[in-house]
Amino acid sequence: MRAFAQIIKSLFLIELLKGLSLTARYFFAKKITIQYPEEKTPMSPRFRGIHALRRYKNGEERCIACKLCEAVCPALAITIDSEQREDGTRRTTRYDIDLFKCIYCGFCEEACPVDSIVETRFFEYHFENRGEQIMTKKMLLELGDQHEKQIAADRKADAPYR
Ligand code: SF4
Ligand code: SF4
Repeated sequence: MRAFAQIIKSLFLIELLKGLSLTARYFFAKKITIQYPEEKTPMSPRFRGIHALRRYKNGEERCIACKLCEAVCPALAITIDSEQREDGTRRTTRYDIDLFKCIYCGFCEEACPVDSIVETRFFEYHFENRGEQIMTKKMLLELGDQHEKQIAADRKADAPYR
């Protein structure tokens, strides 16, 4: 009986017609391929792209050099030096992130008590020369200034889930 069904299937090209009908269905269906980089997929507010250091609204840097991010980083990608300022507060004199070591786990931003180090939505970057993968404090603060609006909006959207 099974052999007979097989013969009928082969005779009437059933499998071929099934395949063609599937192709036709997807040919007219809404396309899911996007034209990157002109088109982009939706992104989570928790997306973990390149890092940034944030400032308060008055321009003061948030980071208090507590080094929690450096301690928690499983890849040892963060290097911090700090000093005490004249007003008695502590600030970093060096804040480097080696992006070749970083695994984008997000532990640094989870550990930060003042929401200073964050991972942004920015992921379209590359390096061409040795050493360019080290993000310095100046670069991180500049990225923070550039993306602050989006960072603040993402933190707000994500706040109920933290
Ligand atoms: S994202 Fe993870 S690996 Fe990268 S610097 Fe932060 S803690 Fe380290
Ligand atoms: S970024 Fe945050 S966790 Fe890291 S040293 Fe500065 S205040 Fe501490």
